[in-house]
Amino acid sequence: MARRPHGRQRDRRDRHPRGRAGRGRTALGRERQAGRSGTRRRPLLRGCPVAVRGHRADGVQDRLAPDGRLASAIGRRTRRISTTSQRSLTGRPEGHGYDSGVPLYKEQGVVLRSVKLGEADKIVTVMTQGSGKVRAVAKGIRKTTSRFGARLEPFTHVSLMVYRGRGSLDTVSQAEIVSPFRALRGDLGLFAAGETMLEAVDKVAEEHERNVRLFMLLLTGMRALDARPADPAAVAESFLLKLLSLSGFHPALTTCAVCGAPAPERFASGLGGAVCRADADLDAGPASLEALDFLATLGGTGLLEAGDVRADNEVRRESRALLFGFTEYHLERRMKSLPILARSLAT
Ligand SMILES: [Zn+2]
Repeated sequence: MARRPHGRQRDRRDRHPRGRAGRGRTALGRERQAGRSGTRRRPLLRGCPVAVRGHRADGVQDRLAPDGRLASAIGRRTRRISTTSQRSLTGRPEGHGYDSGVPLYKEQGVVLRSVKLGEADKIVTVMTQGSGKVRAVAKGIRKTTSRFGARLEPFTHVSLMVYRGRGSLDTVSQAEIVSPFRALRGDLGLFAAGETMLEAVDKVAEEHERNVRLFMLLLTGMRALDARPADPAAVAESFLLKLLSLSGFHPALTTCAVCGAPAPERFASGLGGAVCRADADLDAGPASLEALDFLATLGGTGLLEAGDVRADNEVRRESRALLFGFTEYHLERRMKSLPILARSLAT
């Protein structure tokens, strides 16, 4: 759970082509200009390395509640941000993630799941691009008049404005659909494959821990399914192989996980995948070369093409059993969606 509170700030500053001195001259120039014209200018906060919550020249801090959170000003300020302002509540440019130290942050992400909370609210879990997994309350979302509508349904790619909470729970302020991935809700095979992806990401993603590669993998997976592939389950299985590799659990498939010998004939999740007879333990089961080859091919094929990889039904069944066993073993908990995915297949 290591955090780099100001990593993005530092990156932004280092990338600035003119460096600090250059920006200093610009700021000085603006101050001089402001002095000549007699108007007061807001201080430039863009390069400031620490959080500056509550310090604004235009009086926003007067509307902060005693605990530092925004009180009555939230609605008005939010509307302004969405339409005209290029800066967030503390004067920073928008687009900073959870770690930027500001109470309101902007993110894009894919909704993993939502559960009911109380009479009218929901807690949504979102895999975001810059802030890892985020859990946030969507207030009033179950009322028919809710401004969120269907924007926070699972599978949806959304752009969010989120208030940082004190614990792990944040609050969604605004949500706009980037892509609804509507196809996934109208077809059982696509839905089951999509559910597998969402659940696997939910298992491996850490809250508020940036994981851009995992987010991009999920987004590509949603796009691949939305394109209605010939074999959605193969796309989901290719996705699981890539997710396992990203998470440090890449299964051995073409050589023995223990000694590296070619053409392994057994499979043991606890040993890291395929193993030779000499290295097989009591938990190792048989594995055909065809099934292992099929998994290796799926793992090496892009998600957008994985739905076209062909194999006969016997190989599909065997390889799926090996992969699901390996996935459950390494993601530790039983995944609810895998039996559903298996049932959704014609094979
Ligand atoms: Zn071996």
